[in-house]
Amino acid sequence: MKQQNIRHLSLEELEEYFSSIGDKKFRAQQVYNWLWVKPVQSFDAMTNLSKDLREKLKEDFSFPSLRIDLTQHSDDGTIKTRFAAGVHHKTEGVLIPTEERKTACVSSQIGCSLGCKFCATGYLGRTRNLNFDEIFDEVALINEQSLQTFGAKLTNIVFMGMGEPLLNYKNVLKAIERITSPDALAMSPRRITVSTAGIAKQIRQLGDDQVKFKLALSLHAANDKKRSEIMPINDTNNLKSLVDALNYFYKQTKNEITFEYILFDNFNDSLKDADELIKIYRQVPADLINIIEYNPIDYAHFKKPSEDKVNAFLQHLEKNRVNARLRRSRGKDIDAACGQLANKE
Ligand code: SF4
Repeated sequence: MKQQNIRHLSLEELEEYFSSIGDKKFRAQQVYNWLWVKPVQSFDAMTNLSKDLREKLKEDFSFPSLRIDLTQHSDDGTIKTRFAAGVHHKTEGVLIPTEERKTACVSSQIGCSLGCKFCATGYLGRTRNLNFDEIFDEVALINEQSLQTFGAKLTNIVFMGMGEPLLNYKNVLKAIERITSPDALAMSPRRITVSTAGIAKQIRQLGDDQVKFKLALSLHAANDKKRSEIMPINDTNNLKSLVDALNYFYKQTKNEITFEYILFDNFNDSLKDADELIKIYRQVPADLINIIEYNPIDYAHFKKPSEDKVNAFLQHLEKNRVNARLRRSRGKDIDAACGQLANKE
């Protein structure tokens, strides 16, 4: 018979299980703490349980979890981790340290089906969704890494790794519920950002679900023709549908939206492009535009604009009272920067 995943049991169900095997009720809380509060990734790591009880749990339940497969350290302090999910699958997460913040950039899928032309993950295709407990493991393991390396816990989480989070909607929301729940990791939802390439229907669903975390839209081009050229998802979710969905999201949640905009040389970096970006910004309750440095990947022909062009673009936004900031790349030397995750060694 297929064993049940122990992380799919509530605390009450664990209590029922322990009374059914004639053990004390408080064992349930002990196990629950190992699963969610001080999370471990195996029964053997539950050190306050007897060896016999750990063996009994192994007989009765499965405990599928991510394992660290490879860790790479960048010169700038960024750490990229490749995780093994089961026997055959790999995914990646990144720890980005600064003085004030320790940010985990996590993946929601193995690969991605959306095929954005500037993104290494897009060229892999999608293998499968990550389960909610696997996403939780990414955060828990990167948190542990942050504590061990920098002596500080994670302060922020961004869903900007592999995959489109809104195409793995249920698992992403359930993982965030566990990450933010007071009886689990208890992180603030305001420190979590889910970044989407733009799935209008699911953005509306986030509004209906009254989520508390922040939402970012990977815009990258502010007219449909250019956006469809680099992001095929725009063919079915055009800018008008996204603007409407983001306004609906704001109406339901009162959460302002962040735009992400990668600058590509001679593609979307002119002042005319900046004007189009400003136009979209004004149609949506947005609090910020992150202007992102492009990180070259093997598959694509895009280039990064000169510093002068980047500055001119930013100054134009500022002159028009747009709240914009330049986000410099981190972890480029280990292919950990934005758009570079592709399970390379
Ligand atoms: S940018 Fe995001 S949505 Fe687009 S292919 Fe890459 S991972 Fe997928």
